[in-house]
Amino acid sequence: MSAAATNVAVIGAGISGAVCASLLAARGVAVTLFDSGRGAGGRMAQRREVMDDGTELRFDHGAPYFTVSSDEVARVVSGWEARGLVAEWKAMFACFDREAGKFRDFDKEGTTKKYVGVPGMNSICKSLCLEDGVVARFGVTVGKMDWLQNGSSWSLTSLDGKDLGNFDYVVATDKNVASHKFSGLTGRPPPLDLSVFPNLSTMFQDIPVRPCFALMLAFSEPLAMVPVQGFSFYNSDSLSWAFCDSSKPGRVCLPPNSQSWVLRSTAEYASKG
Ligand SMILES: Cc1cc2nc3c(=O)[nH]c(=O)nc-3n(C[C@H](O)[C@H](O)[C@H](O)COP(=O)(O)OP(=O)(O)OC[C@H]3O[C@@H](n4cnc5c(N)ncnc54)[C@H](O)[C@@H]3O)c2cc1C
Repeated sequence: MSAAATNVAVIGAGISGAVCASLLAARGVAVTLFDSGRGAGGRMAQRREVMDDGTELRFDHGAPYFTVSSDEVARVVSGWEARGLVAEWKAMFACFDREAGKFRDFDKEGTTKKYVGVPGMNSICKSLCLEDGVVARFGVTVGKMDWLQNGSSWSLTSLDGKDLGNFDYVVATDKNVASHKFSGLTGRPPPLDLSVFPNLSTMFQDIPVRPCFALMLAFSEPLAMVPVQGFSFYNSDSLSWAFCDSSKPGRVCLPPNSQSWVLRSTAEYASKG
């Protein structure tokens, strides 16, 4: 992107869009971030449930944590850590053999540093969307992207036909902008005219999307029979992982000692659903 790019639209306020918007804004680019959702996070989402008795439960039902494998990302993450946006999740992990009914390989899964957003996985995106130079517009689905030859800019229109403005560049972080799946969800053609970009369209089709069910459970007392805070399932067709969200740093557990867990299905099981 050239230095002359002063006005950029970023579609998607998940981690890709939020980091992109924040980095561009730090270089003096005016960024407008659009997301269909009510807030930032995308698949690094957190769900809030208020029970009848007023108890508030929160579950990271998207990505449970992230790891870092490059020095460049490590530098960014240590900046987030210094700002209190993320913390290392120091917990015990294992594997649960469903046939044997036993936990094994204690800590094998815990050899890599795991980071979580604080107080929720979406905290990182939320904070990046508030940075100077970033204007975030939630609840707005970009429904159409038109290249204006004479103005050399992109004109964006929302799904309900509202003019969202003209931009020098557009960064789209979800393949739905050029995928037939968008039509399945909205009944409208994808925002980007696929016939103009046939190669891009083919490339997008090749990006796999693996479905997953998330089961969110809350317990008034700690689960005595589970000796770890996270485990993968072995010999299970339906379940892949379970994580104790309330054991993550920065989570408030009400009532005290209660536990919240998120179980994730295998992609194969979710595909059948
Ligand atoms: C259950 C689950 C478990 C996971 N576990 C892990 C894990 O253990 N480790 C790991 O590294 N990753 C994991 N992931 C994957 C990780 O969460 C994603 O790779 C990552 O969050 C994707 O971020 P993103 O910004 O690229 O996309 P997304 O988070 O999907 O963000 C895209 C955003 O674009 C918005 N959008 C799309 N189209 C439009 C439009 N036309 N107009 C406006 N907005 C639009 C969407 O609303 C969405 O918010 C998991 C994901 C899930 C769901």
